[in-house]
Amino acid sequence: MKFKSVGRKDAEHLESIVGPDRFSMGQSNLELHSKDQSYHPAVLPEAVIWPVNRTEVSEILRYANEQLVPVTGWGSGTSVEGNPIPVQRGLVLDFSMMNRIVEIRDADFQADVEPGVVYQDLNEKLRHRGLFFAPDPGARATIGGMLANNASGIRTVRYGSTRANTLRLTVVLASGEIIDMGSRSSKTSSGYDLINLFIGSEGTLGLVVQATVRLKGLCEEISAAIATFSDVEAAAGAVFEIKRSGIDPASLELLAQECVALMNKERGLGLAVLPTLFIEFHGAGKNQLQESVDMAREICQSCGCDHFMSGIERPARDNILRARYEMAETIMRNHPGCSHTVIDVAVPVSAYPELISLAREEALKSGIPGYVFGHAGDGNLHLILMGKTLDHAQRAIIDNVSNRLVIKAIQVGGTSTGEHGTGIGKRKFMETEHGASLEWMKKIKTLFDPNGILNPGKILP
Ligand SMILES: Cc1cc2nc3c(=O)[nH]c(=O)nc-3n(C[C@H](O)[C@H](O)[C@H](O)COP(=O)(O)OP(=O)(O)OC[C@H]3O[C@@H](n4cnc5c(N)ncnc54)[C@H](O)[C@@H]3O)c2cc1C
Repeated sequence: MKFKSVGRKDAEHLESIVGPDRFSMGQSNLELHSKDQSYHPAVLPEAVIWPVNRTEVSEILRYANEQLVPVTGWGSGTSVEGNPIPVQRGLVLDFSMMNRIVEIRDADFQADVEPGVVYQDLNEKLRHRGLFFAPDPGARATIGGMLANNASGIRTVRYGSTRANTLRLTVVLASGEIIDMGSRSSKTSSGYDLINLFIGSEGTLGLVVQATVRLKGLCEEISAAIATFSDVEAAAGAVFEIKRSGIDPASLELLAQECVALMNKERGLGLAVLPTLFIEFHGAGKNQLQESVDMAREICQSCGCDHFMSGIERPARDNILRARYEMAETIMRNHPGCSHTVIDVAVPVSAYPELISLAREEALKSGIPGYVFGHAGDGNLHLILMGKTLDHAQRAIIDNVSNRLVIKAIQVGGTSTGEHGTGIGKRKFMETEHGASLEWMKKIKTLFDPNGILNPGKILP
C-alpha cells in the first residue's frame, strides 16, 4: 500500500479536529512516540494527536482513511514487541487524554472505562469498593494497550487474561464508523464473537474508545509459599502436578536461580539461590487456604522440592511480589550498555519443563547474560537476553535463540507469544503457527481496514 505523508493541508485539517494544543509535529513529541520498550528501532511518526472523545477519533480516522495516512494507536508505549512503533510513519493517536473511568457498577462487577485509563489507577479506585480488575502486566499499561495486546500477568492463572475480563467494546473502524460489540451480560451465545477478534489485534482492525471490563471481588485471605528445587526442570514439573491437583493457585510463578540472585541483591530478600516457585492462594477463609498450602507442599515435596516455606507474612509477600513485578526493569538496570530482548512463548503446561530446559541451555550456549522466568501456571515462559547495544553479532545470536525457542514452542502445540503480542518481532512466525488460517486473518484485516491504514507492518507478515 502506498501511504501518503502528513502534508501541510493534512496537518491543518487534523489540528482543526482537536485544536492546536492537542496536535503536534514537534520533534520531542515525535521522539516520545517513536519507540516502545523493545529492542526494535525507533521510527518517528509525522504527527501526534490526542483526542478526548470518540467523535474526534472517528473524524481523525475518517480523514486519515480518505487521505491514506497510516494511524497507530498509542497507550503508554510499554510494549516489548514493537507493537506501537509507527513503522510506516503517519499519525500516532495517543489515548492518554481519554482516561475517564466512566462508571463503576459494583453490583454487576463491571466498569466502563476509556482506553487511556492506566490499570493501576483503575485498581486504586476500585480498592475502596473491595473490587479489582485482575489482568496485571506489571508495567504502567493502559486498558487500550492491554486490550490490543491481550495482556496478562502474574494472576492470570486464576483470573484469566484481558480477553477473559472484557465484556463489551466500542470501537472506531478505519472508515470512522463507531460500533459496539458484546453485552453487559456475564455470558452470551449470541452472534459472532467480535470482541475476541478485536482483543489482541494490536490496533490493526479498529481503535477501542470504550470498554466494559469485568471486576473481581478482593478476597478476604491471601496465603503465599515459596518452594525451592535443586533443578529448574523439577520446579517446572511441580507446576504440572499443582495444576492437575485442582488447588487453583492465584499465582504460580517460576524463577530460575539467576533471577532469585538478582532479587536478593536488589531487595535483600535472602532467598535461597535455587530454582524457585512462588505460589499464591486467594480464598474466603484461613482453613481453606491452609488446606491448599498443605497440598501444594506435598506435591512440591513429591517433585523433589528442597525447601517449602509457607505462612509468609504480608510485608515479606508484598516485597517478593514487587520484586517479581519489577524483574524486567531490575535485569535492565543491572546491565548498563545492554539492550534487553524478551522472548515470550507459551506451551501446554505438560511441555513446560522441556521448554524451560531448552531456554536455559540456549541462554548458556549463547554466552549472553540470560534470565529465565515465567507465568508457569499458564505455561508462559520468558527468557530475557541482555546483549550489548548495537553489537550486530550478539543481535544475530539472540535472534537465533528466539527462533529456536519459538519454533519449539509451536512444535509442542504452543504459541509464538503468550502475552506480548506479535508486533514486529513475531510476524515471521505467523505462517508456521497459523498455517492456512493466516489467509483468513488477512481477509479479516482487509474487511475492516481495506486501505491498511491501521498500525501497518504489524501482526501479518
Ligand atoms: C517491564 C515490563 C514488564 C511487562 N510485563 C508484562 C506482563 O507481565 N504481561 C504482559 O502481558 N505484558 C507485559 N509487558 C508488556 C506491556 O506492558 C503490555 O503489552 C501492555 O498491555 C501494553 O500497554 P500500553 O498501554 O503500554 O500499550 P502500547 O505499548 O502503547 O500499545 C500496545 C498496542 O496497543 C495498540 N493500542 C493502544 N491503544 C489502543 C486503542 N485504544 N485501541 C486499539 N489499539 C490500541 C498500539 O497500537 C499497540 O499495538 C511488560 C512491559 C514492560 C516494559
